Amino acid sequence: MKEPSVIQEQLNTPFGLKGRVVLVTGASSGLGERFARLAAASGARVVAAARRIDRLQRLQEEAHQQDQEILPVALDVTDEASVIAAFDAAEAAIGPVDTVIANAGINIAGSALGMAIDDFDQMSNVNFRGVFLTAREGARRMIAAGSPERRHGRITLISSITAHHVADRAPVYCATKAAVAQLGRALARDWAMKGINVNVLCPGYIETEMNEHAWELEGGKALLAGFPRRRIMDASALDAMILYLCSDASQQTTGSVLTIDDGQTL
Ligand code: NAP
Repeated sequence: MKEPSVIQEQLNTPFGLKGRVVLVTGASSGLGERFARLAAASGARVVAAARRIDRLQRLQEEAHQQDQEILPVALDVTDEASVIAAFDAAEAAIGPVDTVIANAGINIAGSALGMAIDDFDQMSNVNFRGVFLTAREGARRMIAAGSPERRHGRITLISSITAHHVADRAPVYCATKAAVAQLGRALARDWAMKGINVNVLCPGYIETEMNEHAWELEGGKALLAGFPRRRIMDASALDAMILYLCSDASQQTTGSVLTIDDGQTL
């Protein structure tokens, strides 16, 4: 067992990301944008990936003004070639990625009865196939860069409380998020001896472009009224957990499915 003084020393800088190269998918808005800013502010060199490159470029400019580093990279997570190209671009510009936040996701709301099969495919492709492609390419690069020896690989998959709690008018979204949760646990086992930790974060409802109009509708108001604290979460509620999962502090945390929801599912 370590001496308390050594533990204290470690606790003083537990969640710093200095020296890490963090790739965030879906960094052009909402939670992904926050994760990218947070990682950059915590000392990481950040690769912000999404399709809307103009937004990522704005993020880069803002970071630059604060002496932080964010590299914008065009990425469609559903396309394997695009995922490989994004990691190539990251590696060429700032070095091998050792930390991945697979965050890109979409919801096309509606009952299953009238859902166009194209919408089903799109949700599956972004939320599940995209997370798999991102995590796998990240893991391949980490292993090639020596993660089995350095044991510093970190992959966080962004799922949702809807992995465990059914939401109205979102049957396919809920199913993809449940799939992501189990994928994370299975990948954690697959890569346990490769120096890569895979964990899953299940956030509660946070206002972003994905749901910004929902809260004015009757269904949204009713959902909110059912939350014990009668409120939507703030994205900042995820900061500490994201930093922990991306940092050296989470060395013995892998295969965990963690909920942060302000008690919304109670
Ligand atoms: P958002 O603001 O709509 O962000 C979604 C992001 O995904 C955008 O940056 C979008 O970028 C990206 N994206 C969509 N399709 C993509 C594709 N094919 N390739 C690459 N990127 C793609 O929504 P958000 O709330 O921040 O969602 C982020 C994640 O959190 C999602 O996985 C969501 O399921 C999860 N989540 C959200 C909540 C919530 O209440 N907000 C709760 C639980 C979980 P481009 O369009 O520029 O590509």
